[in-house]
Amino acid sequence: MAIYSHSRLSTFEQCALKYKYKYLDKLPPDFEESIEGFLGKKVHEVLQWIYDNNKNDLDEVIKYFIELWNKDFNENIKIVKDLSVDYYFNKGIRFIANYYTKNYPFKDNTIATEKKVYVSLDNNSKYKLLGYIDRLVLHKETNIFEIHDYKTGSLKNQKELDKDRQLALYSIAIRESFENVNDIHLIWHFLDYNELRVSKRTIGQLDTLRRDIIELIKKIENSVYFQPNPGALCNWCEFQSYCPAFKKLTIKKDIEPDNGFFEK
Ligand code: SF4
Repeated sequence: MAIYSHSRLSTFEQCALKYKYKYLDKLPPDFEESIEGFLGKKVHEVLQWIYDNNKNDLDEVIKYFIELWNKDFNENIKIVKDLSVDYYFNKGIRFIANYYTKNYPFKDNTIATEKKVYVSLDNNSKYKLLGYIDRLVLHKETNIFEIHDYKTGSLKNQKELDKDRQLALYSIAIRESFENVNDIHLIWHFLDYNELRVSKRTIGQLDTLRRDIIELIKKIENSVYFQPNPGALCNWCEFQSYCPAFKKLTIKKDIEPDNGFFEK
C-alpha cells in the first residue's frame, strides 16, 4: 500500500508524467531543489526553531536564519528566474521579520511544530495519507484547535482557501487523534504579504473530501498512460532531461508558477 501525501497528489494533478518519473520510476532528478523551495524550507526551519526554543529576540532569530542559509546553500540549487541569490535571501529576512513583528511574543499555546500526522481516508485504512502540520495550537478552555501553515508563495483568496485540500486533510487527522475536539480553525500565514487567513470545514465537507481523495488515488493507481502536461511549471521541473514534451517547449522565464506550487 502506497502512502500518499498532499504534494504527491498535487504532482499527479500538475503533470502525470512527472508523477511517474518521481514516484513510480524514482528517477534521479536533474537537480535537487529550486531556490524557491530552499527559501521556503529555511523559513519554515527558523519559525519552528522560534517556538521549539522559546526564542523572542529578533536579532538572534535573524542570525539563525543567516547561519542556516549559509550552511545549507549550495551551487546545485536551481535559480530559474533572472533574479539573484541575494534577492531570495533578503526575502527570507523580510518574511521572518514580518512574522516576528506580527506574532511576538509567540504565546498562543502551541502544542506541536512539524507534527507528523496520518490521515485515514477509509474505515479499513486502505487509503492513508501522511502530512506534517507546521504548527498546532490548542485552546484548552474551549478545546478548539488551530492548524497553522506558513506560505512563502502567492496569496490565495478566501474562496480558494475554503476549498484548500491540505489543511482540511490534516484536520481529519486531528479529529481522530484527540478526544472531544470542539472545532478546528485552518490558518495560513502568507509571509510575502504579511497576511493571515482563516477557514473552517464542516464534518460533511470533510467526508466529501475523503471520498474525493480516494477517487483521485484510485485514478492514479489505475493509470496506465501518464500524460505530460507542458506549461510554465516545466521551468521548475527536475525531470526535464527525461521528458520528451519538454524538448519541444519554449521556455519563458518570466512566467510565474502556480499559487503555492513550492509549498510543502
Ligand atoms: S518537463 Fe513539464 S511536461 Fe515534462 S515531466 Fe516535467 S512538468 Fe511534466
